[in-house]
Amino acid sequence: MLDDVDLLVCGAGPAGSVVAERAAAVLGWKVLVVDQRSHVAGNCHDSTHPSGVLVHNYGPHYFRTNDESLLRYLSRFTDWHEANYEVRSLVRGQLLPFPINLTTLEAFFGKSLTPEAAAELLAWKRHDIPAPTNSEEQVLSRVGPELYDAFYRGYTLKQWGVSAAALDPGVCGRIPVRLSRDARYVDHKFQVMPTRGFTALFRSMLNHRRIRVLLGCKYDEVRDLIRPRRATVFTGPIDEYFGHRLGRLPYRSLRFEFVAKPVEFAQPCVQVNYPNDFAYTRSVEIKHVTGQRHAHTVVSYETPSATGDPFYPIPRAENRALYAEYAALAERERARHGVYFCGRLAQYRYFNTDEVIGEALRCFERLRAERGAGPPG
Ligand code: UDP
Repeated sequence: MLDDVDLLVCGAGPAGSVVAERAAAVLGWKVLVVDQRSHVAGNCHDSTHPSGVLVHNYGPHYFRTNDESLLRYLSRFTDWHEANYEVRSLVRGQLLPFPINLTTLEAFFGKSLTPEAAAELLAWKRHDIPAPTNSEEQVLSRVGPELYDAFYRGYTLKQWGVSAAALDPGVCGRIPVRLSRDARYVDHKFQVMPTRGFTALFRSMLNHRRIRVLLGCKYDEVRDLIRPRRATVFTGPIDEYFGHRLGRLPYRSLRFEFVAKPVEFAQPCVQVNYPNDFAYTRSVEIKHVTGQRHAHTVVSYETPSATGDPFYPIPRAENRALYAEYAALAERERARHGVYFCGRLAQYRYFNTDEVIGEALRCFERLRAERGAGPPG
């Protein structure tokens, strides 16, 4: 099979799995997917903890999208159930709804508020910054310094290792501020979880007679051995592909501690954030949203780190500038050698899972247009 590959895909996460599936199903290509880890699904990987509880091994993935056609595509590989993504933040000894909503504002400022009164209060608190250039300005311009200090400053520093002032406005800006009592983490139209989990979803996607998956295999081990007839899709860190020749792009990593507890539920909602206490940023009891029923539970404590497997690109100007230089190399690599770069690490973008899947579908369309016609080779 190794001399019989139309498409080589590096990475069996969401990006690689989608491109592989489309190429095999739509174009009839023979696809080889390699992944250095021992499982598919990338950072969406979930598995059964020794206690019997399903956990998200690399941090929570709260699937949401506004794109019904994307959801329909994924529904070929899984059923879904509705999920309630609710987060609270430990602030001044209380677990307050986060994103900040009317209930949060009432508890924080110690008075009952109508939406109109809350809007007035925030208008009075917030800084007049018409076009925020970073995340600190972004939050200050929405809610002012007290709420920034209590909910954002410490969390962001822990999460990214740099101040919110050094990060793009969109990092904190992706979190809404609400004048209602809506306590959902996100606003998207569809908020659902795959019934049997993410690993089962991506396994089902890759379960195609023209797709072969090689786990525990690094791209470097095969890149000189396999000459795919049509193309290569690379979903790992873009700077790694080029041997870091322009310098290293920084990625933020995470460490997890999974703690089993002999109770049905240990915390009131799926996620508790700790902006001002502990080294970890959040505790996640994913059982709240997986739909699993079990007498025991598992809580994972998440501590950000500068070293370890890459999880997040760090959205700030200097990193984007370096990425742009790598992206220029990537364009040349695509034109000359048919190598396509797709996904959070390869495009150095802070994508959510649905966004990565959208990118992968677009990558496939590009592949099809540029490499799909004519004889292979
Ligand atoms: N954030 C914060 N306080 C919180 C939660 C989030 O300041 O309690 C900031 C932080 O910088 C974080 C960003 O908002 O990285 C986006 O948060 P989100 O929960 O969307 O991050 P993810 O789930 O992708 O790690």
